[in-house]
Amino acid sequence: MKTGFIGLGHMGSAMAANLIKAGHEVIVFNRSAQKRRELVQLGAKEASCIADACEAQTVITMLADDSAVSAVTFARSGILESLPRDAIHISMSTISVALARKLTQAHTEVGQRVVSAPVFGRPDMAAAAKLFIVTAGDPATLAACKPLFDAIGQKTLSIGTEPAAANLVKLSGNFLSASLIEALGETLALVGKAGLDQQTVVDILTSTIFPVPAYKTYGGLIASRKFEPAAFASPLGFKDIRLTLAAAEALGVPMPLGSLLHDRFLRLLAQEGGDRLDWAALGALAGQDARLEPNSQAVPSSIHP
Ligand code: NAP
Repeated sequence: MKTGFIGLGHMGSAMAANLIKAGHEVIVFNRSAQKRRELVQLGAKEASCIADACEAQTVITMLADDSAVSAVTFARSGILESLPRDAIHISMSTISVALARKLTQAHTEVGQRVVSAPVFGRPDMAAAAKLFIVTAGDPATLAACKPLFDAIGQKTLSIGTEPAAANLVKLSGNFLSASLIEALGETLALVGKAGLDQQTVVDILTSTIFPVPAYKTYGGLIASRKFEPAAFASPLGFKDIRLTLAAAEALGVPMPLGSLLHDRFLRLLAQEGGDRLDWAALGALAGQDARLEPNSQAVPSSIHP
């Protein structure tokens, strides 16, 4: 298939590369031109403006946040003005429920189609074409996009016909991930301050009662304190908690844990260089609060676990 692809960050560059590898004809656009050239070397056609990436029957966006997706979609000569009638905007960024609804209305009004298809999985999974894609939209439109989804992900799951539903599911998943990062951080602060080896504890927990990939990944990152370079930067994680709370407020759903995570992100981002860290660094705050020295695993004499 021929498709435009806008947004070549950590995720988008790997996803576009896999589309090319699968034989699709990909026209790439990114605000910073350098990242386009890396994809051109892999066989993409370079678009020098957003409109040039909208000449096919589909255009994928994989951009940072609401403001980026709004800028690219609603700008003069943006997607809305440039995409042919009946063509499909495949919105894969993690954006708000409110913006997903606005996109649906705007595209529908001008006779274009839109589906939401946010993804679960970090850049390493994107590079391996192992993402999980959560879709919502008109079934025939989703079926038309299937060859593209198949090239990017290991599994595509649908949650109905209203595109914004997929965005809510994605936000729910990231709320759960942030919650487990905080819970793991507190757990590892506890065992670490008692002098136990944190990675050994992660291995015990993830090979018994929590054999879950997310626990393994984030447990390992927190135990090793490997937060740079960021695969999923903390400002993007903070954005997802804000968007979750906005959706919760609109629906009248109290989420006290979400409010706590909001403040934990504020604490992380207030640190020097906090915005450069992976969001897994949220899991290091409990250790800091406990005055756990970064590499100390010695058993304090007063504690006998
Ligand atoms: P990223 O590396 O920070 O890339 C962000 C992309 O958005 C870049 O292409 C950037 O262009 C573009 N952008 C930002 N502001 C813009 C603006 N105002 N106008 C035009 N383009 C703009 O982010 P990422 O990690 O790839 O994440 C992309 C999306 O996927 C986000 O919604 C994120 O929440 C979601 N996501 C991320 C992960 C992950 O693990 N990283 C996993 C699942 C979902 P420049 O290169 O010019 O800055």
